[in-house]
Parts: sequence; C-alpha cells; structure tokens
Amino acid sequence: MTVFDPYTPQSGSADFTVEHYDLDLDYRLGPNRLAGTATLTVRVLEDLRALTLDLVGLGVDRVRVEGQRARYRQRAGRLLVTLPAQQAAGDRLTVEVRYSGTPAPRMGAWGDVGWEELNDGSLVAGQPNGSATWYPVNDHPAHKATYRISVLTDADYTVIANGRLASTTRASRGTRWEWVSDVPLAPYVASVQIGRFKLSDLPGDGEVPQWLAAPRLGWGPAALSLKKQHAMLEAFQDWFGPYPFDAYGVVVTAETLDIPLESQPFSILGVNHLRPTWESERLIAHELSHQWFGNSVSIRRWKDLWLNEGFACYAEWLWSEQKGSKSAADWADETQAMLAELPQDLVLADPGGPDMFDDRLYKRGALAVETLRRTVGDTTFRSVCREWCWRNKHGHGDTDAFLDLVDEMTGIEARAVLGPWLFDAQLPTLPQRPPVA
Ligand SMILES: [Zn+2]
Repeated sequence: MTVFDPYTPQSGSADFTVEHYDLDLDYRLGPNRLAGTATLTVRVLEDLRALTLDLVGLGVDRVRVEGQRARYRQRAGRLLVTLPAQQAAGDRLTVEVRYSGTPAPRMGAWGDVGWEELNDGSLVAGQPNGSATWYPVNDHPAHKATYRISVLTDADYTVIANGRLASTTRASRGTRWEWVSDVPLAPYVASVQIGRFKLSDLPGDGEVPQWLAAPRLGWGPAALSLKKQHAMLEAFQDWFGPYPFDAYGVVVTAETLDIPLESQPFSILGVNHLRPTWESERLIAHELSHQWFGNSVSIRRWKDLWLNEGFACYAEWLWSEQKGSKSAADWADETQAMLAELPQDLVLADPGGPDMFDDRLYKRGALAVETLRRTVGDTTFRSVCREWCWRNKHGHGDTDAFLDLVDEMTGIEARAVLGPWLFDAQLPTLPQRPPVA
C-alpha cells in the first residue's frame, strides 16, 4: 500500500477523495456503544478497483457501493472495499458503511487520539489521525469535505458537532441532534462532544455570533471567563481578515483537559483552561486563531504544520500586544532567548512526524512570522496575512505557496529572509526591530 503522508503512514489514501460525509450515529453513554451508518460521496482521483478507508477499533456490518452490497475486509485500522467495477478518475460513487462497536482512542506517537469516553459524556480529539476511531474516513487534511452529523443519544445530554445545529428531534430513548457543515473541513476537526451542557449564545458585542456549551452550573462563570473573546475576534479580523465562518463556539468540558482541542467552527476547553491567568487567555486566543490558520486554510501535508501552529502562537502575542500588555516583539525576543538554550535539531518546515507537535515548532514558527513582520513592516505584514487567508479561504496552503505570496506582495526575497527559519535546524537571529514611528 502506498503511503499518502509519511508523517501519518497508517492514514489517508491518495487515489480518491471524499466530498461529503453523511453520518447517522447512535451513541449509548452507559455502555459506551456506538452504531453508525456513514454515507460517503466519493470522487475518484486515480483509476481504481478498491477503496482504502481508515476505521480503527469498530466493526463493519455491511458496505454498499451505489446501493449494491460490496465485499470488504478490515485490517490494521483500514477498511478495504472492493468496488463492483474499475472506476476512472472523475467518477463519483456513493459508499455506505454500517458499523458499530465500543469506540476508544488510538495510540500513536502523539498520545491517544480519537473518540474518548468521559466520566459523564464523551469527546473527540481528532488531531492528527483520530477521526478513524468514530467513522470511516479518508483521514488526512488534504481531503476536506462537507459533513452532516446526526447523533441520537441519551436524554439530558447535549451533542455538539461541526457547522450549525440544523435540528433536534425527540426520540423514544433520547434526542437526535443534527449538525450540518456546508463549508468543508479537514477530517481531524470533525468532532462530536457529548455532555450535560447548556448551549446558548455568548453575551457580548461583536459582529460574529458566538455560542458557549458548558455544564449547566458552570455556564455563567465560563461565559464570564470568555468575555474577552469578542474583542479577540475583532482584533484577529483586523490582522487576518474577515472571520471565515458564520459563528464561533466554545465547548467547556466538565473534566480537566491536558490541552485545549481545535475544531471547526469551535474549540474545546477543559474547565481548567478558564482561569483568570495569561496562560488561559493565550490558549483561548490560540484556539480562536486556528479558525483562520488550520481550519479555513488547511495544510496539504503534515510537514507544513508550522503554518497552523506558528501563526496560532503568533496570534497569542498579537492579542497580548492589542490589549496593551507585552508586545509581540518583546515576546519574540524572550522566546528567541529561550529557544537558544534548547537543542537546535528541528527543521520547522519538515520536523518529522513524531516531532510535529514539539513546542519548539510552535515557538519557532511564531518567530518566523515575527521575522516577516519586522522585515516588511506592519502594513505589508497585515496585507500578507489577509491575502493568505482570503486567497486560500476554505482551501489549502503550503510553505511554498506562502513564500511565493510573500515574494509577490512584499518585494523581499522570501526564501532568503525566511529560509533559515524554515529549512535550517540552527536557530537564526531575529532582525532588528523597526524604529518606533
Ligand atoms: Zn494550536
């Protein structure tokens, strides 16, 4: 089997893409039992006789292709479906998979990812290849798709998934929640969060509606902790251009989480991420900025992850500067000094799969962004950020495309200025700060 992306060699296929996932799920909390029917609209990219989907830890009961039963087998986290006939590039197929089982995270180089049962609910931590633990998927950000996710679950529980809440329907044993995303998303941000949540609008002024799902008793305090989020969103619109989705949401889990999780168009924070500290505030800003960098503009290969995390880390610094605390330039100088003490063996634009979530990638990525800003000045820097997000809205970007855009818009030689940050292991020095006007 050919490897689609060496960073996640066990995930993703090159020869087809999925344009739409229609997921009908039934989840029982007590026994942690998931049953689903996934209907995939597949577009063939290369002539093929079989499809390889990702599906981990769940058993397939039946597969239909274009309404006809199809042969399949499951092996090592893959679902191989034999097609009734050879398919040519450009063909479209409807593939329906009925499956069930006890969902659990998959272990990998990045800890456990995927569907996780909580004490009182469940969550999905999809990055980078955890989606396969709850639905059959071509699990790679190169394959963005639209989604309809419908989940029947126990009464008293709220289900959050991607896009907008299209309907809720009472059923004999609970409620069915239907969420629809008409804008494409990378599979790793597809998400189902289940808890005893109150789901309501987040108060505050701002042109983009925001919502909050949090445990009922904790909803008020959580809303208070997120009150700066409207101002953050406005600040990021100023730097990065219009917010790319209709609304932004936050899910707060009843349990503590090691790290917040990004989804589209929402983020998942643990109750421990809402403290009145800069650490909490920077995480809130970081996750919000991923709506531009990572979600609207997704990466085509995991080696370009710095485009997500470098910008998200830089967004923390921009927010700090915006609210009158430490400037991004000060954050950058401090971070440079901190990184200088650490091993210099990480290549930002190709860190290798196991190290792609190394904290140095986040920080060094932000320093590369600061280098660009110092070199071209605020006005041009803002234009580059905005153009990048606008040109690639709901699509993809990669390192080369970013460097080409910088060349095109700034007149600097992007590869000369940013190359040492991106392609050398040794830590470069930051350029001089521009004189204060
Ligand atoms: Zn991040």
